[in-house]
Amino acid sequence: MTEPTEAAELTSLDGNPFVTKSPLAFSLPPFGEIRPEHYGPAFNTGMEQHRAEVEAVAASAEPPTFENTLVALERSGQLLSRASATFFGTSSALATSEVQAIQEEYAPKLTAHSDAILLDSRLYERIRAVRDDTAQMGALDPESRHLVERYLTEFTVAGAGLDDAAKERLRELNAALATLTTRFEQRLLADANDLAVLVDDVTELDGLTAGEMSAAGEAAREHGHDGSYLISLVLPTNHPHLASLTNRALRRRLHDAQRARGSRGNEHDTSALVLEIVRLRAERARLLGYATHAAAALADSTAGSPERVRERLAPMARAAAANARKEQAALEAEAGNSIEAHDWAFYSNRVRATTYHVDTAAMRPYFEAERVLRDGIFFAAERLYGLTFHDRPDLPGYHPDVRVFEVREDGAPIGLYLLDLYTRDTKKGGAWMTSLVHQSSLLDEPNAVVTNNLNVPKPAKGEPTLLTYDEVNTFFHEFGHALHGLLARVTYPHFAGTRVFRDFVEYPSQVNEMWMLWPEVLANYAIHHETGEPMPKDLVDSLIASRSWGEGFATSEYLAAALLDQAWHALDVDQAASVTDVGAFERAALEEAALANPLVPPRYSSTYFAHAFAYAYDAQYYAYIWSEVLDADTVAWFTENGGLTRENGDRYRRYVIGIGGAADPLASYREFRGRDADPRHLLERRGLL
Ligand SMILES: [Zn+2]
Repeated sequence: MTEPTEAAELTSLDGNPFVTKSPLAFSLPPFGEIRPEHYGPAFNTGMEQHRAEVEAVAASAEPPTFENTLVALERSGQLLSRASATFFGTSSALATSEVQAIQEEYAPKLTAHSDAILLDSRLYERIRAVRDDTAQMGALDPESRHLVERYLTEFTVAGAGLDDAAKERLRELNAALATLTTRFEQRLLADANDLAVLVDDVTELDGLTAGEMSAAGEAAREHGHDGSYLISLVLPTNHPHLASLTNRALRRRLHDAQRARGSRGNEHDTSALVLEIVRLRAERARLLGYATHAAAALADSTAGSPERVRERLAPMARAAAANARKEQAALEAEAGNSIEAHDWAFYSNRVRATTYHVDTAAMRPYFEAERVLRDGIFFAAERLYGLTFHDRPDLPGYHPDVRVFEVREDGAPIGLYLLDLYTRDTKKGGAWMTSLVHQSSLLDEPNAVVTNNLNVPKPAKGEPTLLTYDEVNTFFHEFGHALHGLLARVTYPHFAGTRVFRDFVEYPSQVNEMWMLWPEVLANYAIHHETGEPMPKDLVDSLIASRSWGEGFATSEYLAAALLDQAWHALDVDQAASVTDVGAFERAALEEAALANPLVPPRYSSTYFAHAFAYAYDAQYYAYIWSEVLDADTVAWFTENGGLTRENGDRYRRYVIGIGGAADPLASYREFRGRDADPRHLLERRGLL
């Protein structure tokens, strides 16, 4: 950096709240002072400082030690970390055009910044020297030793060990893949908009709720079709309206539109992108020393290799396919004739209602949001972990809707929990957890600050917020991530909270879902908001009885996508070059997986498989069911051991959610359970035995 630039940037950081650590309790970002224009200068100077700190480590003349290399790297880049954690921890909940513009500008710069560090051979050599120094390694505590191993693996899979020519090609491939995956996402979005289903006659919408009809009317008006109805497409193959639309022709139109995305040979077609992405990923894998992209991606996961993923998923696929065929017979009996793919959800819903008498709408009056939160979610956390939650209206959230709770364990403060429940125009869809402050004793940050976001429609003023069954389930799920972030106690920021493997991170959140219907918890929170009556037992019983209904279909469509993702990324360079027909490859892969049932298409087909070709879940879409094996085995453990007790919570915390990424997760699991996870519990849950 030249002198004048530095001077200019220092000036531009005057009054920038990211320059120093937040003075607020728990280092909560000072949202009252943060404005969008603070991020650019904080990112720029933060990257510059980080580069200088990393350069000092890389260029050091001292022999490499754990302190002067690993610890120094862990301490580096704190301004950048503060700004990034705050920005990316709130950007999806505050997605204004200003925030999106910042994201578009800085996301590639930040990626290039971290790539430059990961590809620095000098750092790589120093880390390797520490790892190879048995005397040094032997003197380290287990978390520190694990840190060395993790750094070495992460640098290796990123390509730090390559020669300069190979690194040059690697950078080209990374840049080309970034462009291609962005293009995939853009074309998919454009084609989905293009394929949205326009309906002129409102009677065709029979089966939809009044709210869904008016949303379709509004969408049509926005697109210049006043008086008509427009059904927007959704990402997975099966559109939710297929379960309720009574008009079969419209169901067919909607399903065909969903299936056609990216494959129509027009300017939005994604087939060529799929082939090119697969080829470049295979080439990158070979450069990194792996036979296939799946092998490269899974080298840094709890699964370890594509073979282990296939071994676990393949038998499930055969059982799920058989279950789906049994369900199909029940659906055809209900329909009185043979059915097609676009009829599946409709008749499945009917069977659920007629056979199991499930009425999820009748449950809502018992799911008042504040009760669910305090008497359900917080109640379970108190019983398990001794946690209590206290309103802190004096601390600022990033939006007026955000509520701030101080978390105490047996009375002592241990962090903050921010809850952002309601949907709004500037919030992206879905639900998620983020960490605004990462716990790390090295950086003198004793506690974490975490957020939960949901997208619950805001009721009219004075009306209670009544949640749906799915929303309550999601709430418990996201709170499981929050607990993971709040309860982990680690030394190094690299291991804070939810900084664990992708095929592990959904496990603790899935486990927390078990408390939603746990009798003691349910009885405590599911109280009718007007009458004060507890939820009738038959409502709960019918719901529990119906749980395995539809699992054949759900598991089949999920596994079809997961195995399709594996198949594309199991190609070596030569094989990838020889594939020219996306549809034919997909059919063969599903055939091979025993999941080629036209009535149960994969949850995502290749031309609209954004997880595999845009969202960085490439070769890792299996992670959901992989985590669920641990989840189901843990639910069984809690159930066998008396359920909701502090003793159980303490044990689960000691080996699982309390350790963040600081130890090998499967080894810790083995200590927790006294054995490896038994997949039988998952097979049982999904009816696959
Ligand atoms: Zn999750």
